[in-house]
Amino acid sequence: MTADIDCVVLGAGVVGLAVARELALAGRDVMIIEKTEAIGTGTSSRNSEVIHAGIYYPQGSLKARLCVSGKHRLYAYCEERGIAFKRLGKLIVAATPEQSARLGAIAEQARLNGVDDLYALTAQEARELEPALVCDAALMSPSTGIVDSHGLMLALQGDAENQGAQCVFHTEFVQGRVLDSGLFELSFDGAEPMTLTAHCVINAAGLSAPAVARALKGQPEHLIPQAYYCKGSYFTLSGRSPFTRLIYPMPNHAGLGVHVTVDLGGQAKFGPDTEWIGSEDYTLDPRRADVFYDAVRSYWPALPDGALNPGYTGIRPKIVGPDQAAADFVIAGPATHGVPGLVNLFGIESPGLTACLAVAQETLKELNAA
Ligand SMILES: Cc1cc2nc3c(=O)[nH]c(=O)nc-3n(C[C@H](O)[C@H](O)[C@H](O)COP(=O)(O)OP(=O)(O)OC[C@H]3O[C@@H](n4cnc5c(N)ncnc54)[C@H](O)[C@@H]3O)c2cc1C
Repeated sequence: MTADIDCVVLGAGVVGLAVARELALAGRDVMIIEKTEAIGTGTSSRNSEVIHAGIYYPQGSLKARLCVSGKHRLYAYCEERGIAFKRLGKLIVAATPEQSARLGAIAEQARLNGVDDLYALTAQEARELEPALVCDAALMSPSTGIVDSHGLMLALQGDAENQGAQCVFHTEFVQGRVLDSGLFELSFDGAEPMTLTAHCVINAAGLSAPAVARALKGQPEHLIPQAYYCKGSYFTLSGRSPFTRLIYPMPNHAGLGVHVTVDLGGQAKFGPDTEWIGSEDYTLDPRRADVFYDAVRSYWPALPDGALNPGYTGIRPKIVGPDQAAADFVIAGPATHGVPGLVNLFGIESPGLTACLAVAQETLKELNAA
């Protein structure tokens, strides 16, 4: 039976665009549906823009595997397509001898994940690289970098469109079902409400991916995770950045700690912190700066009073709550839920930007797996 369209990708964030590109390059007809007015208005433009090395994730996890392979592919793609990036390197800094004793385990975890270029620095060696830094010891990750996330998304969109894909904005997927024929019937609200049939559906709706899956009837509901939102706030620094590399404190249970990233324009920003919230709310509470001053002064005691300005927030699309162990990416295709032609992408939090090209490849693999 023929459908109106071959493949529908729900969501035009960096992951949806990368999947659409991969599908289009594989010769599929693709329509990308986005509820807002443009690409990348969600999490994809509300992050640290860091190309992660793949250090901390459990060995063999999708996060570890797709971050490491995605990083290599992303650097190559940026060079090929002229997308702005910098391989700045990152220092993981230990503030105390107790923390320094944990650096070896981090380097070992990285090695298990295939990141074998980390090396240890004494406090003095770290300070020679970054004179403003105060620490007990550090680990250097040379393959960590930054990328222009919007430039990346434009390139992905351009590649997909060059292969015939089309992006439809102001159009929200509201409900759908699997027909007896195996096709998907999908209904959309927006400028022009419409109903389409499709052979395959990729749910790349980010924070809304669990809700979208629930609205697409005909798949096992018990496999759809609950969505949790974990907001991260950023503060920017007035004046010149004291650092030329990315500076990360020791990771903790909730995340990577209040770190320093430098953007492509050379401006430093601090964050993200962690705040569990109940709905998609991007407001930034300037009072959170108090905690930032303390956290940042653990490695940069010279941070002047009043130097932090409210920046922006992003929301991590979590699929487990605050008291549970961190979840892996979920890329669930027919082999998981039994519905041919459907892939759900759940919990694509960090390092989803780094891993987008690898996530796209994995999505096609899942789509085609029986
Ligand atoms: C604070 C923070 C910092 C981060 N830092 C980094 C980092 O430094 N490096 C890194 O690698 N990763 C980082 N990440 C993770 C990275 O940003 C995400 O993994 C990535 O952006 C996810 O992209 P996405 O396309 O899945 O989601 P999104 O960008 O959220 O895109 C989903 C899209 O779906 C659309 N949509 C939703 N519902 C519907 C519907 N019903 N119909 C149509 N469209 C719909 C939305 O409007 C949105 O545009 C960070 C994340 C956060 C929150």
